[in-house]
Amino acid sequence: MKCEVCGNDYDKAFTVDMGQGQHTFDSFECAIHALAPTCEHCGCHIVGHGVEQDGVMYCCAHCAQQNGAVGLTDRLDDHSHDDDRVVEASKESFPASDAPAWGSRRG
Ligand SMILES: [Zn+2]
Ligand SMILES: [Zn+2]
Repeated sequence: MKCEVCGNDYDKAFTVDMGQGQHTFDSFECAIHALAPTCEHCGCHIVGHGVEQDGVMYCCAHCAQQNGAVGLTDRLDDHSHDDDRVVEASKESFPASDAPAWGSRRG
């Protein structure tokens, strides 16, 4: 079978079903090149789990946050040694609310 990316005719090529189509590749490198989504922020191919926000894919939660997506964490659990860290980040995240409505303008 022929790789659809590089054209290599390889007897150990494999096919990938994705969406409506079936794709043939001679290597995972070619498969990633053709099928892996790219991170909206840094543009790298997402070969891990990645994260998704509003239909946009990012390679990691950090990239998602850089692009303004909030509330995302990497799917991999990070069993770090330090469990009782105090999270202080929420102190300084005041939401930018709309201006109060009671100054009704008449013009
Ligand atoms: Zn190939
Ligand atoms: Zn990224």
